[in-house]
Amino acid sequence: MDKIKSDIRELSFEELVSYLNEIGEPAYRANQIFEWLYQKGASRFNQMTNLSQALRDRLASDLLFSEAVVAHEDVSNDQTRKVLFELQDKERVETVLIPTKTRATVCVSTQAGCKFGCRFCASGIGGWNRNLTAAEILNQILYMKKAASVHPLSHLVFMGVGEPLDNYDNLIKAIRVINSKKGINIGARRITISTCGVVPKIKKLAQEGLQIELAVSLHGSSNESRNVLMPVNKKYPVDELIAACKEYGQATKRQITFEYILIKGVTCTDQAAKELGHLLKGMLCKMNLIPYNPVSEFDHKTPTSEEMVSFRDRLEKLGIHATIRTPRGKDINSACGQLRHSVK
Ligand code: SAH
Repeated sequence: MDKIKSDIRELSFEELVSYLNEIGEPAYRANQIFEWLYQKGASRFNQMTNLSQALRDRLASDLLFSEAVVAHEDVSNDQTRKVLFELQDKERVETVLIPTKTRATVCVSTQAGCKFGCRFCASGIGGWNRNLTAAEILNQILYMKKAASVHPLSHLVFMGVGEPLDNYDNLIKAIRVINSKKGINIGARRITISTCGVVPKIKKLAQEGLQIELAVSLHGSSNESRNVLMPVNKKYPVDELIAACKEYGQATKRQITFEYILIKGVTCTDQAAKELGHLLKGMLCKMNLIPYNPVSEFDHKTPTSEEMVSFRDRLEKLGIHATIRTPRGKDINSACGQLRHSVK
């Protein structure tokens, strides 16, 4: 019976070493192969010229070497670049490269669609189809690593389509390669996972021994307000979420970032500011305020700049360090919450 071939990028370094061992090759070949895959940007086994032809042929017969297929690409007038990738089964996901004066960040998707149905986000509108594999996650990053021009790729945010912690195993597998010196070599502190609040997985992540930045989409100041916008809150209420965040902070020594969407008259109100002050009292955290980016299916409004600044000032007075996130790539629908998944 034919075994379904797995992609070379599905193998962790250790798995590659043990595969090489099985086929009678020395372990140092794994270093060479990882270098080709993650540092030199090879796209075919035949480019791995320091391996014997016999080994290259063997790899090609045992393993797949998939490449990211680009279906569409847009560049914003602020130089943000959005790429729509088509996966082998015709699922499509979006990835964004965000250059700034000092760094280049890639915003990565982890699922084709999303199950969580937040009532302001485009990514969940078409439902959820499947998890991305570790190879599909890595391919988005490798493509953007080649595309980054002024600054080399330095930061990653798992803030694209999908809920990263709902695809936990593939996410961690990819992160181990991203984080490894032999792999893409991006430090854990330059990697941010954003979650809508999947409490058991936040606790699990705290125990991985990785100092990854955690961003938590809070978007409400109480169960009442959060239930309306984020159905996930019915399963994992806000007090459990805050407790898990504290646990994460203690285990990793990292400060949690809360993301908080600013919707006119809904989340950007005096009452919400007061409740947030109470909810986060004494907690080591910062707050990233995200102005609502329009999604045609919802009829929310973005507050005025004055309203947003005054909300931020109220939080600061209550002892919460808050900044307003500048939207990037809005003209090409690549700002927060505007990414979609589509099938051809
Ligand atoms: N599922 C993860 C990853 C998505 S990250 C999460 O929920 O955190 C994308 C961030 O953009 C999240 O904070 C999300 O809540 C926010 N977002 C979603 N829709 C938005 C919109 N229309 N305007 C601004 N931010 C939005």
